[in-house]
Amino acid sequence: MKALVLEEIHKLSLRDFPIDAAEKDLAPRDVRIKLHTVGICGSDVHYYTHGRIGPFVVEEPMILGHEASGTVIEIGAEVTSLAVGDRVCMEPGIPDPNSKATRLGLYNVDPAVRFWATPPVHGILRPTCVHPEAFTFKLPDSVSFAEAAMVEPLAVGVHAATKAEIRPGDVALVMGAGPIGLVTALSALAAGCARVYVCDLDDAKLEIAAKLGAITPINVTREDPAKRILAETDGWGAEIVFEATGSPKAAASVFEPLSPGGRVVMIGGQAEPIAYDAGAAMVREARVENIFRYAHVFPRCVKMLASGAIDVKPLITRTFAFEDSVKAFEIAASAPKGDVKMQIELPQ
Ligand SMILES: [Zn+2]
Repeated sequence: MKALVLEEIHKLSLRDFPIDAAEKDLAPRDVRIKLHTVGICGSDVHYYTHGRIGPFVVEEPMILGHEASGTVIEIGAEVTSLAVGDRVCMEPGIPDPNSKATRLGLYNVDPAVRFWATPPVHGILRPTCVHPEAFTFKLPDSVSFAEAAMVEPLAVGVHAATKAEIRPGDVALVMGAGPIGLVTALSALAAGCARVYVCDLDDAKLEIAAKLGAITPINVTREDPAKRILAETDGWGAEIVFEATGSPKAAASVFEPLSPGGRVVMIGGQAEPIAYDAGAAMVREARVENIFRYAHVFPRCVKMLASGAIDVKPLITRTFAFEDSVKAFEIAASAPKGDVKMQIELPQ
């Protein structure tokens, strides 16, 4: 079957890839899925442009893609919760079910987790895949395949909002208006924030952010978010700061807009150690949380999309056909202004 293959750094091809043989037989608790929509993630693009993310290095050809929805076309002998024809979305990280981390409920930080399109595990920009029933979630009719392929990034935002322990009426700042920043802003509003400030350098992204609800956009090239938030909160600050840029400079400033007793959630990945203003954190008794992907939130995301509590449709800014996948990645790698999430549709 044809797949989108990252051959090596800077080299993609759409070609036959011999993965069918390995997936010929279905384990009793697995399902076979015909892929429908796959989102392009910053991590996919980063493997394409840099060949690695931290310790994960692309050493042989790897299929990209991990944000996906599709239709069940075959089920294993012991599968009970899914049937052929069900529309589904899939959680891409499979832990060792017997590991200590998994048994403690922390399966996303299981060192043995196998995550789509993270070397050496292949992704799902291909016609079909095999996946465990336990990590495959049925969609109600009201959730489209495109929205369902947004559940994976949305899960990061919902996990971050959960870690922040948002209380109704809190004010939050989300640093970064990329896809993860915006799903975090949506999650913070859904969790009860009265107002969410979103800061970024790109006016086009901030314009999209401003339309998502009680959101105040701040362009950091023209305005200091800390000053603005302190001015608008009687000098108190934001109860929660989400760092979703991955920029060391932005991350070094997370405590400036933070209120006393506030919470910081670090979402953006950092390649190198970063500055941490321990004094500013101390005088606020700041609590700092870190997240790595997500755990236990896919069903919550599906329910919120179904009920309308969260609408991710404004974040989907471009859709490509599968045969144009290479072009789609070239465009994504050029980081066009105003584009949030690009998706690829597979032929049905
Ligand atoms: Zn992703």
